[in-house]
Amino acid sequence: MNDAQSAVWTEALLAAGAVAALGLAGGSLAGWWVGMVAAAAGLLGLSLFHLVHLARLLRWLQAPAGTPLPGAMGAWERVFAVLHRRARQASDERRHLKATVARFRRAGQALPDGVVVLDRDGAIEWLNPIAAAQLGLSLQQDRGYPIINLVREPEFAAYLQAGRYSEPLLLRPGRNPGCSLALQVVPYGGTQKLLLARDIGQLEKLETLRRDFVGNVSHELKTPLTVVNGFIETLLDGYGEFSAADANRYLRLAHEQAQRMQTLVDDLLTLSALETGPLAPDEKVPLAALLEDILVETRALSAGAHRFSVQLPASVCLLGNRAELHSALGNLTSNAVRYTPSGGSVSIAWRSDPAGGGALSVCDDGIGIEAQHLPRLTERFYRVDRGRSRQSGGTGLGLAIVKHVLTRHQAVLEIESQPGKGSCFRVRFPARRLAASSERGAAGPSA
Ligand code: ADP
Repeated sequence: MNDAQSAVWTEALLAAGAVAALGLAGGSLAGWWVGMVAAAAGLLGLSLFHLVHLARLLRWLQAPAGTPLPGAMGAWERVFAVLHRRARQASDERRHLKATVARFRRAGQALPDGVVVLDRDGAIEWLNPIAAAQLGLSLQQDRGYPIINLVREPEFAAYLQAGRYSEPLLLRPGRNPGCSLALQVVPYGGTQKLLLARDIGQLEKLETLRRDFVGNVSHELKTPLTVVNGFIETLLDGYGEFSAADANRYLRLAHEQAQRMQTLVDDLLTLSALETGPLAPDEKVPLAALLEDILVETRALSAGAHRFSVQLPASVCLLGNRAELHSALGNLTSNAVRYTPSGGSVSIAWRSDPAGGGALSVCDDGIGIEAQHLPRLTERFYRVDRGRSRQSGGTGLGLAIVKHVLTRHQAVLEIESQPGKGSCFRVRFPARRLAASSERGAAGPSA
């Protein structure tokens, strides 16, 4: 027996003793019936005392959880205290349980994949917002309904019923066209099931891109390789029969093709370095000096066939990687030359913007580009005119390189073009990519 129990027993004995004492005292003072009445009154008082506390207890038990404990005396005080402690423990456990469930729900909601909890009959108990979006379901409306009545693809019903869950099911849900899902059921707790849904659309897209890329590279290498092989075979077969001039011509043509392959491999390596390479620490790159270097190469490419005009404030200084910026801007100026017929002009200009950034534009009055091609120009190997690009030594990777370099410098490329009139490629640098400059001035047009 613990302390509280023995205290209650002690109080019960004391009460019984008090009633007996009352009866005996009344009996000895005023006769036995007075003693009986006194004892009865004592018992009545005791019963009333207990009834009042019982009523308070009942009222408290029926009151909402958390209602303060009513006042009590004697053994009842202990009873109330024990009950109160129990109620508080239960409410703490409930709160703890609620918090745990909420934590699990939040974790389920934060998962990058769809999750649906199914009961033993395959009815939905819970699902996270990703599963709702992927499968076109709603937790409020669909809770309690069998999932096969809602996701109505026959292969899904067959997968659920077959019970062989070691392999995922690839599904394109009718309620969410365009989405590709890998579904997998994980049984748990004996009868329940967890349905996991992963969107593999992105993976499929990447796989298609990879396949296209390998196909494109092979195709790009195949033509020059075939030509080089052809010349070598011709020279080998007719060794000694060709004049020195013919042999020299064949070798020069083979060399041209080999150089084409070299350019392609160089561009591929540049792209790969841009995609996977670490960012080099920023350096201050004076724009005018950078373009001076670039224009030496561009003018050599033009071989005097184009007019050039440059409008650049001498003070503009970019923050970034010099070699990458050289490659990106050099691609734009060389494209301007390659896609502008002889006699055309190329103009390069800088314009600061009010937000502290600025834009470098490379414009030409060349062949221009039809509007439908503009959004795809920075894709690898995308060309408007494959023949023209190859003929002018293009690899189809120039603008992809430009885009990667600009992304690494938080800059964006804007393209405006009109077929037959010319194109403008504008590179917009944010303020954080400009080093503070004090001087102002413009280099005049150079022919
Ligand atoms: P390429 O090596 O073929 O020039 P790019 O990636 O540099 O590859 O350019 C992709 C395509 O964009 C080119 O094939 C060409 O059709 C078009 N293009 C790029 N710059 C210009 C320009 N200045 N004028 C017209 N067309 C251009």
